[in-house]
Amino acid sequence: MLRLSKLKEKLAILHYRKKFAKKQKHIVWKNSKWKLTWDIIGLTPKFNITCPFCNTEMVLRHSRLHVSPELKEENTHIDMAYKCPNCDYFIVFGIPVPPQYWLYILNLRKKFGMGLIYAPIETWAKSDQQIIKERLQALGYW
Ligand SMILES: [Zn+2]
Repeated sequence: MLRLSKLKEKLAILHYRKKFAKKQKHIVWKNSKWKLTWDIIGLTPKFNITCPFCNTEMVLRHSRLHVSPELKEENTHIDMAYKCPNCDYFIVFGIPVPPQYWLYILNLRKKFGMGLIYAPIETWAKSDQQIIKERLQALGYW
């Protein structure tokens, strides 16, 4: 059931990507640190996000479409939030994106019944479970 919906989601994304492939050419992207994904995630880093406290690879917690009302909502950006599965350190990158791209991602998310936020609960719930398991093991409960 879950797998099937995941597959449908992937197919829909592929279809959407193909449909909007032409649009991609019209968007100027000069950020050397982040890459446009053209899917519901929005952005992906070109570098490893490791925790500054314990050096663990951090996990994506959410990707949020953000606007600045103080700038008349012209300053469209995407907030990429990551959390350390080891020490719970939390960090947010606020990356400016072209308004067309911001809208493209919003429309894509709407298609999947989402709003401004995409939170890959599956990924971090799994890692949280792993942490709990490891902590219990450390305490001798396993
Ligand atoms: Zn950490």
